[in-house]
Amino acid sequence: MKRSVNAAGRRLEYTLIQSRRADVLFQALPQAGIRVYAPKYLGLRIVDDMVRQRAAELIDMQRAVEARLEAGRRAHPVSDGSPILVEGRQLTLRLFRGGRVRDEIAGGEYRLALPDPGDEDAVRAAVKSALSARALARIRQRLDYYIPRIGRAPGRVAVRDQKTRWGSCSGKGNVNFNWKLIMAPPQVLDYVVIHELCHLYEFNHSPRFWALVERQMPEYAVWKKWLKAHGDDLYL
Ligand SMILES: [Zn+2]
Repeated sequence: MKRSVNAAGRRLEYTLIQSRRADVLFQALPQAGIRVYAPKYLGLRIVDDMVRQRAAELIDMQRAVEARLEAGRRAHPVSDGSPILVEGRQLTLRLFRGGRVRDEIAGGEYRLALPDPGDEDAVRAAVKSALSARALARIRQRLDYYIPRIGRAPGRVAVRDQKTRWGSCSGKGNVNFNWKLIMAPPQVLDYVVIHELCHLYEFNHSPRFWALVERQMPEYAVWKKWLKAHGDDLYL
């Protein structure tokens, strides 16, 4: 839930996530702002007070993550000739002028046709949309492969620009995937697809859940670790 407090002469917005946890966790995320995880029994005003008391610290945390993101963008420009990760491979981005946005992988290059290459922000947005389409196509293909093996099919399937998650499964059985999975090695994408499909049986992370995952992918722990270690490197 979105909340805001007035502190140090400014308005500070944050997202409150109420959970079963026993303590309060403060987090600053690039583009997603400040998040506060708090136990459900804690009153909203108490949480607001805690945020107000830590306002200066939270603003600093948020500035630091935004600065890191900005530095990352400067270090990884998205322009003709830039390195780009697609399906776990380091490719060279090649931009072409074309009638509509179209992409292909050939000869170590990720080739993208654009009506108007424009400035870097426009290129970044076009690359993101082309990679998202590629992610959805690949995820659908991997779902088609794993659904008969796992024995349950999800409802709606979507690819989203999720800031903090690689995949999610709702109580209704709809699944969402992070478009950046297309940048990771294919086994990582498979692992996340399997993970979400297994939630259609076990809506938790119990040993029974992990046993289901392991049945489909005995080496899943390798890719789960990969995502933890390198997930932050997958960005545009
Ligand atoms: Zn899960």
